[in-house]
Amino acid sequence: SETVLQVSGLKKYFPHREGFFSRQGKSWIKAVDRVSFGIEKGRTFGLVGESGCGKSTTGKVILRVLDPTDGEVRFLGEDIAAISGKSLKNFRRRIQAVYQDPYASLNPRMRVDHIVSQPLLTHVLYKGGRREERALELLKKVGISREQARRYPHEFSGGQRQRIGIARALAPDPDFIVLDEPVSALDVSIQAQILNLLADLQEEMGLTYLFISHDLSVVEHICDQVAVMYLGRIVESAPTGELFRNPRHPYTKSLLSAVPVADPEYELKAIPLVGEIPSPLNPPKGCSFHPRCPECMPECREQEPFGVSVSSGHLVHCHLC
Ligand code: SF4
Ligand code: MG
Repeated sequence: SETVLQVSGLKKYFPHREGFFSRQGKSWIKAVDRVSFGIEKGRTFGLVGESGCGKSTTGKVILRVLDPTDGEVRFLGEDIAAISGKSLKNFRRRIQAVYQDPYASLNPRMRVDHIVSQPLLTHVLYKGGRREERALELLKKVGISREQARRYPHEFSGGQRQRIGIARALAPDPDFIVLDEPVSALDVSIQAQILNLLADLQEEMGLTYLFISHDLSVVEHICDQVAVMYLGRIVESAPTGELFRNPRHPYTKSLLSAVPVADPEYELKAIPLVGEIPSPLNPPKGCSFHPRCPECMPECREQEPFGVSVSSGHLVHCHLC
């Protein structure tokens, strides 16, 4: 199968403010550190972790909103850092994003049919009446009627606004969508509807997704592969079923133990996370999870664990493996 997105050794370091003006003692926040993964066409890759773990920053580098400090992102085989001119415009059309809060990104003074036809105008995809028709078709696809399309964003519920945000992302006919916490602001019952809609659209349009979430229960049903991030690094990644049935990293286990499961066979004993997430400015030595790890061993304080493949497609960074 075709690899749509390949991320290799990605780093995004931010200069820490105090060290910014003096060359001496310049310190860095390692928001994303040596992150690698690939996503095949038509698949959904989940990036999961607590807030501040670097998942959204990774999404921004992929969207070319942020430049990486090091490493590489390839989109359909092409290094995105090298894309310029006309190709850059095409790249910006082919990769779209949907964020947590659609209201913040929907112009309150614009009718929703105009909001959705805006990208068609920007990318000169359809003309005049055809453009309006296309916007209405897209809105219909996400469950917004012709009649509703003449209304303004404040007249819609949170779930409907997210549908409008999705229609807008679909407008330029993208190959790939970064979904950054797309259902986190919604009620659980509405979350399921939006996730089903995203899955249907993926099937119908052959889309590939990066799904960013702090919530493992949300990624379980939509993702094919899941990577768990902690302090800028991927600590474990596996096909979704494998990750949920056979988590190996203590951090993944603690996150999963907080997720309610239907099958008691897979019920995990609750593993509470102790302590706060350490500052990414001074990440702990050795395994960065060691101050919070219930299974911490002496070597964990000294040595950073390598990635070990425990089964096909299942990679773990932990001295226990
Ligand atoms: Fe815990 Fe050690 Fe594994 Fe880190 S390497 S997760 S501290 S057991
Ligand atoms: Mg985020």
